Amino acid sequence: TKAFKLAVIPGDGIGKEVIAAGMKVLTYLEEQSDGKFKFESDYFNWGSDYYLEHGSMIPKNGVETLKDYDAIYFGAVGDPRVPDHVSLWGLRIAICQGLDQWANIRPVEFLPGINHRIAHPDPESLNWILVRENSEGEYSGIGGRNFSARPDEREVAIQSSIFTEHGCERIIRFAFDLARTRKRKKVTSVTKSNAQQYGMVLWDEVFQRVSKEYPDVETDQWLVDAMAAQFVLNPDDLEVVVASNLFADILSDLGSALAGSLGIASSANLQIDKRFPSMFESVHGSAPDIAGKGVANPIGTIASAALMLEDLGLQEEANKVHEAIRRTTAQGIITRDIGGTSNTEEITNAIIKNLTL
Ligand code: NAD
Ligand code: MN
Repeated sequence: TKAFKLAVIPGDGIGKEVIAAGMKVLTYLEEQSDGKFKFESDYFNWGSDYYLEHGSMIPKNGVETLKDYDAIYFGAVGDPRVPDHVSLWGLRIAICQGLDQWANIRPVEFLPGINHRIAHPDPESLNWILVRENSEGEYSGIGGRNFSARPDEREVAIQSSIFTEHGCERIIRFAFDLARTRKRKKVTSVTKSNAQQYGMVLWDEVFQRVSKEYPDVETDQWLVDAMAAQFVLNPDDLEVVVASNLFADILSDLGSALAGSLGIASSANLQIDKRFPSMFESVHGSAPDIAGKGVANPIGTIASAALMLEDLGLQEEANKVHEAIRRTTAQGIITRDIGGTSNTEEITNAIIKNLTL
């Protein structure tokens, strides 16, 4: 029996509900594997409750502790009682940056049987994947408050972005390598290099240079504002979309909304050199507006578990999970956010049932 050590961090709000759903699916797969593999899961109660009790989102050695695991399965973070920048930096970004998970992939799946919000004759033929730079850019955390540079002494805040040639090159190369494994073999790079004349011009130059090594891959370059419109107006033009930390974050919410809902979008924060574990999480946040009601859509988190299975070498099981999700939505067993009436538990049970078919 191959044992995988999982660090499970449900976090806040619906994070707890969707992780419970995902773990139910993983436990079922383990039972069905006839001893081929098992998950040794440790739960970590890190999040906003932990913060209110201890004054930090995770213990001092928290990120260090995670290095012992094969993968991290993450719910969501965010609580009205804690400032969002404290919870996000203290937990999710602390882990992504602390474990050098510099590549964040976010597939946008157009599932059957749900309300897509896109004008396209055959949305299910679309095959988008966003590649997010996950270590620097606008999320470098460099800056400060209370600069008294203005004569009227009103506050000035500075928030700097960092773009390194190394950071740009590795994520762009990753996008090209990913494109080679896909149907269309196309990479679209997104910046705002007309207005952001240092970091994003560097990004564009690196993109141009690296693209020469991939003559078999089609390329395209867009400014982010025009790209947002392109998502809606020319969805056929996109396959692999690579962008900075902030821009890819925004575009992935747009992509998942066009596919139906934030609730279906999955994501993997990949530690490419495998020195540390990767982290798998849905794209959405803790959704305080629906937390505790049992109605959260678990598909994003269950699809993230499939990305985790793939990363652990369980490709067959990963494919099964993806297929079970598609069967379930095709049967109309879906949550409110995508036009249905089922709750979290009903969908999870239906996905598990569809795993056996
Ligand atoms: P959100 O993603 O939590 O919610 C946005 C909207 O989408 C809400 O109306 C919510 O009900 C809906 N929604 C989200 N996930 C859903 C699901 N699975 N099923 C059904 N509906 C779903 O974003 P927000 O409201 O901007 O942020 C709430 C909190 O989450 C904030 O504290 C924010 O900082 C945090 N956040 C965390 C992460 C993360 O942990 N990775 C990501 C984004 C936001
Ligand atoms: Mn986001």
